[in-house]
Amino acid sequence: MKVVKFGGSSLASGEQVEKVFKIVVSDPERKIVVVSAPGKRYADDIKVTDLLIACAERYLELGEANELVDKIVERYSTIANELNIPADIINTIREDLLALLNGDQSSPERYLDAIKASGEDNNAKLVAAYFQHQGVEASYVSPKEAGLLVSNEPGNAQVLPESYARLYSLRERSGIIIFPGFFGYNEFGQVLTFSRSGSDITGSILANAIKADVYENFTDVDAVYSVNPSIVQNPKEIKEMTYREMRELSYGGFSVFHEEALLPAFRAGIPVNVRNTNNPGAPGTRIVNKRSSSAGPVVGIASDGGFCSIYVSKYLMNREIGFGRKLLQILEDYGFSYEHLPSGIDDISIILSQGQMTEAVENKIIERIHNELHADEVKVEHDLALIMVVGEGMRHNVGTTARAAKALAKAQVNIEMINQGSSEVSMMFAVKEDLEKRAVKALYEEFFVGVPV
Ligand code: ASP
Repeated sequence: MKVVKFGGSSLASGEQVEKVFKIVVSDPERKIVVVSAPGKRYADDIKVTDLLIACAERYLELGEANELVDKIVERYSTIANELNIPADIINTIREDLLALLNGDQSSPERYLDAIKASGEDNNAKLVAAYFQHQGVEASYVSPKEAGLLVSNEPGNAQVLPESYARLYSLRERSGIIIFPGFFGYNEFGQVLTFSRSGSDITGSILANAIKADVYENFTDVDAVYSVNPSIVQNPKEIKEMTYREMRELSYGGFSVFHEEALLPAFRAGIPVNVRNTNNPGAPGTRIVNKRSSSAGPVVGIASDGGFCSIYVSKYLMNREIGFGRKLLQILEDYGFSYEHLPSGIDDISIILSQGQMTEAVENKIIERIHNELHADEVKVEHDLALIMVVGEGMRHNVGTTARAAKALAKAQVNIEMINQGSSEVSMMFAVKEDLEKRAVKALYEEFFVGVPV
């Protein structure tokens, strides 16, 4: 049995939904179909989820959002028209949206979640109607009825462990199941969504629950690429990688597959196959527990900007018990998370996302580190990019760091920081943001150009 998830661009128009239908019915193992809300049809189109967010916010503020309601309903009705589905489903969608907008507003966060979730919920109903119209046995299944229980965290819900046993019974249902992605219900029957792009998470949970043979994740690219195609043209496709490699790459900015979605599939050892709705013949990328191919030490290079580092130096830091804890406590007091923590005997650097920090808070943190920890020097460096060079093969290959450092030196990129060794599958380089692209190109040249696949 397979769980198949289709992203927003795969469901953005009637033509796309027809492709989805063909893909699903071409393989009788494709039992559960998880759908996103309609996404973008062209570059500056607006996703239905974003329209819903704007609509809910406006309704909360002004008590009306007629124009946006019309726009949202029109997205569905265009798809229904293109598919020749009877129009009554569109009235149901409009009524559902209006009822939600007029619903309980006592918690704006919950209100927003209920409206956001309607994007996938109504799309699942529409897709099910189309499948039925084509004469196929298919039914919409609600996450509530199926027992997808989640924690009480609006916009960031987490699946509750008891969901898995409940969802297992989906195996017994006859016909194809069309299941909306992105949300579940709490114990009181209230809707809560996962984080953005969370339909991937729903698919992974279902794959785990029904013990699927594979979780196919259909999107709009042929594969996960070894590097960001906007930095390197026509980069190599990754045929196979491990969950750990994918985790490191998504952390470093690869957004093809939601990072939280790996866990349920990983726990059940279910391979994830990222594929292209627009080119279903392509084998895509397989994400597995252990990989067989050993094409080289590096599987991919990811990079992301917007980081800063707080450098702290104090003579004999290594002997001072509790120094690290006190330092991190200061960050915790401001609700900050950190990304990396490379350290030496008398120095430590904390790398964190710069967006969390205002200038005033930064000054306060520096002052506290001086006053409370009696540091000799505290410096904040802004506008850093982190580059992650990822590959399980690095453990067994001698000289990968040297090759990377040499490639960066040749490209005249100064390395601000290296973190190697804390993770067995990745190496992290911090460079100035304006050198990020140059650095990534140089590393790609070194590890991929001229190397057999
Ligand atoms: N529609 C939701 C979003 O745009 C979830 C998803 O597409 O996976 O974030």
